[in-house]
Parts: sequence; structure tokens; C-alpha cells
Amino acid sequence: MKAVVIREGETDPRVTTVPDPEPDAGEALVRTLRVGIDGTDHEVVEGAHGGYPEGESYQILGHEAVGVVVDANGTDVEEGQLVVPTVRRPPLGQDSNTYFERGEPDMAPDDAYVERGIVGAHGYMCEFFTSPVEFLVPVPASFATYGFLVEPLSNAEKALEHAIATRSAFEWEPEAAFVLGNGPLGLLTLAMLEQERGRYATFSRTYCLGRRDRPDPTVDLIERLESTYVDSRETPVAEMASAYEPVDFVFEATGYARHPFESIDALAPNGVAALLGIPEDWTFDVDGGRLHRELVLRNKALVGSVNSNVEQFERAKRSLGAFPEWFPDALVTGVYPPDSAADAFADDRGNEAAIKTVVEFATR
Ligand code: NAP
Ligand code: BGC
Ligand code: ZN
Repeated sequence: MKAVVIREGETDPRVTTVPDPEPDAGEALVRTLRVGIDGTDHEVVEGAHGGYPEGESYQILGHEAVGVVVDANGTDVEEGQLVVPTVRRPPLGQDSNTYFERGEPDMAPDDAYVERGIVGAHGYMCEFFTSPVEFLVPVPASFATYGFLVEPLSNAEKALEHAIATRSAFEWEPEAAFVLGNGPLGLLTLAMLEQERGRYATFSRTYCLGRRDRPDPTVDLIERLESTYVDSRETPVAEMASAYEPVDFVFEATGYARHPFESIDALAPNGVAALLGIPEDWTFDVDGGRLHRELVLRNKALVGSVNSNVEQFERAKRSLGAFPEWFPDALVTGVYPPDSAADAFADDRGNEAAIKTVVEFATR
């Protein structure tokens, strides 16, 4: 079958032929429909994050997928069911471990998981993949086109849940949220926060940070979501409070390593910042004493968040289903056949008119 891979020693994805996968006991065989590309995939391709499956010199890319079960292989999943796979699996040679047994693979330490398409395991950017059925989240048939967005949205759902949990010991009444980053993760999060949601915080005002000149499709999208675009070249994150207002919640999705520290100044007293970006090493000066004091005297919190569990996938399904119809159409700016996957990666990175690109293997 066709697969989009990164080979050892190379920094460009390529299409190749790999053996068809065979489901083991407890696994189903899934025909891939679409696989999205995000900032992490570029970091994997560039060798900045992740790693090859043990003993292999290439890795099949892709971790944001939607597909159809074509062989249930004796499991209880229905053939024809549309599914979104989760990303984390137990390490090679382990059937499970405490984190997976608890349904919390997202909280596993480094040696207790692999991530499909990212760390130590093949991904989904291929015609077929297999997976234990407990890692296949069923989605409605209407999700065939945009169901691959469930995975990144579930990462945002998790971060919001953890941030809110840090504020649960007192009466927190947040009003303003600030999303850092106008990449796909930032924009998906903005759309998620813009929805009325009784179970979590409902924000009256949202802001989204970028560094682009108008006209720009991401700025259009931010404004169409009735959010306010903040240009970091004019208003650095640390000046947010004086330029606009102090915010109750910051969601960092830039991967720009100064932003967590600058966020402390953007936060209102009792505010919390969730950090999701995955930067490379970068040494710079910070006034640690002032930051420490600000966290303590104003009850502020910074919380890191990675990956997501099945419950968070379920919430992401609800959020995706509630998005205005125009939103995913505006977010996904390019759909490429597998043979043009290298163009999909190049367009996603190099073209300012592109927001998110996707590789399409089949439509049903
Ligand atoms: P992305 O496409 O690289 O988006 C990052 C965005 O941030 C870009 O639009 C970039 O603008 C903007 N940006 C960067 N530095 C900025 C600055 N100083 N001021 C203003 N804007 C700035 O990546 P993504 O897919 O949205 O993901 C965002 C980050 O989260 C990545 O590091 C990714 O690896 C990580 N991630 C983490 C998780 C998790 O579970 N923790 C999940 C998904 C993704 P330009 O395009 O104009 O440069
Ligand atoms: C993926 C997560 C993963 C994280 C760190 C993100 O892009 O969506 O599932 O845990 O990268 O590798
Ligand atoms: Zn991702």
C-alpha cells in the first residue's frame, strides 16, 4: 500500500510502498480517509521532535486521522463504522500499563508510551492501518470530511479541562481568554472557546495572537469568529494587559518559548495559562524573581498539557459537531492526494494563504 514516510537522514516526506498491515487479535483494519498535518508533523519531519519505531529506518507520518473499519477481525466494532484513532499506545512489547489501564495514556511518562506518527510508532498516513479497537473512537458518518480535526481539538479540550481544574478550589468567574497562535491548533481552540459551553468557563471576550499583516486568511477567520486579532509585533504578550485587558485564561499554541513567561503578565489575578507548544531548546534571560512573585502574590498558574484521552476525544466530537459550518471549510485550505503529500507539507509550512492541509486517501 501507499504510505507517506520520513526516512532516516532525510528532511522531506516521500511516498513509498510498504506492506499492507494485518490486524492482530483485538485489532481492526481501517481504511484511511483523511490525515491532517499540524505543527508537530513538521517538527517530526525536521527531526526536532519524536523518533522512529524501534529498529526501523523510516516512519509512516500522520497522527490526525479519520477512517472506516473494513475488517472488524472478530472484535465488537461494526464494519463500515467511521472512526478516529487516538495517538498513544503502550511501548513495543507491552500490552498495557497503569496509565493505559486507567484510561489516562495522556498522563504517561516518556518510557510508558509511544505515539503513532510521532514517537516510536508508525502513523496513519497510509492507505490502511490497524489498531486495537479500544483506541478507535467511533464518530458519525457526517464526520468523513473533517473528523480528523477531532484529535487536535481533543488536545485543546484536555488543556482547558486541566487549566480549569487548577481554578476549581474557589469561585472563578473568567471573562476574557487569549489564544496565542493563529496556527491550526490556536484557531481550533478559538472556535472551541467561542461556543457556549455550560460545563466549563464561558468567555465573553476572546483574543488571538499572530504576527501576520492583513489581509491574511487567519486574521479573517479570527474576526469571523468575533474574536480580536492581536499582532505580537505591535502588542507583545507581556503588554496585553495594558493594551487590551488582563485576561483570565491564556492558551499557548505558538511554541514560542518566551510566551509562557510573558503570559504571566497578560494574566489577571487568579488567572491560568495552559501551555501546549513544543519548542526547541532556547536560552534567554528572564526576571525569575518577578515572575515567581507574580505567580504567588496574584494566585496565577501555568499548566503544561499534552495529548488527550478518550473522554476528551468525545468532548472534541461534540465541539466539532457544534462548529459553524463555514469554520472547517475556512480552516482546511488544501486537500492533497497521497502522491502529492510532499506538496501538502510544503504548502502547509511555506504558504501564508494556507492554514491547514490534509492528505486524502479515500472519500468513503
Ligand atoms: P503551527 O502551525 O506551527 O502554528 C503556530 C502559530 O503560532 C503560527 O501560526 C505562527 O505564526 C504563530 N506564532 C509563532 N510565534 C509567534 C509569535 N512570536 N507571535 C505571534 N504568533 C506566533 O502549529 P500548530 O499545529 O498550530 O501547533 C502549535 C504548537 O502546539 C506546535 O508547537 C505543536 O507542536 C504544538 N502542539 C501541541 C499539542 C499538545 O498536545 N501539547 C497538540 C498539538 C500541537 P506564523 O505562521 O505567522 O509564523
Ligand atoms: C499531538 C498529540 C501529541 C503531541 C506531542 C501533538 O501534535 O496531537 O497527540 O501527544 O503532539 O507529541
Ligand atoms: Zn497534533
